[in-house]
Amino acid sequence: MTVRLVSQQGTESADPTFTREVLGAGVAHLERCYQCQACSSGCPVAYAFDYAPHQLLRMVQLGLKERVLDSTTYWLCASCETCATRCPNDIEIVQIMDTLRHIALREGRTQQTGLPLFHRTFLSTIKSNGKVHELLLILRYMLISRDIFKLNELPSNIKMGLNMFTRGKLAILPAKIKGMANIKRIFQQTEKKNG
Ligand code: SF4
Ligand code: SF4
Repeated sequence: MTVRLVSQQGTESADPTFTREVLGAGVAHLERCYQCQACSSGCPVAYAFDYAPHQLLRMVQLGLKERVLDSTTYWLCASCETCATRCPNDIEIVQIMDTLRHIALREGRTQQTGLPLFHRTFLSTIKSNGKVHELLLILRYMLISRDIFKLNELPSNIKMGLNMFTRGKLAILPAKIKGMANIKRIFQQTEKKNG
């Protein structure tokens, strides 16, 4: 069943099935959100989102599927868990962001073209090294996205790389971590589960 909602953005379709799907993915207590905004005020990445976390959750509650899936918020979320630790209602916000990414990928909703690609590239560096290696991540992403061939962006990319390097944020070689076998197993099991 589709419900029509009237908002400042005009008339929108609300899809209760979408809300049920997100709730049904094991997301804890989304219905308890009372918009206190504690999550958004602590989010270190909220400045880059088009909707703050509390706004996105409200839209999920209302079933505004189109607007939610068109949002950049769930792709840019860094899964840092700051919001979840601040939430008075123990809402698993990171799990909601993950669920939205799964739904968007399944439905081919990747119009934020760079963001899903960056997300997959990020995961591939974790899979191969156990933790993120920024230089490898940037190079891989630029190659796959073909951004490396955008010559007009080259000077600013080099400047950013040098800035990160001089501040010690860009290691040349990836760090070795213990437990690579466990990381590989997690990926194997997840990939098997997701087909
Ligand atoms: S997990 Fe995502 S939404 Fe929550 S505080 Fe971190 S970046 Fe923001
Ligand atoms: S902190 Fe929790 S209850 Fe408050 S707006 Fe965020 S998700 Fe909702």
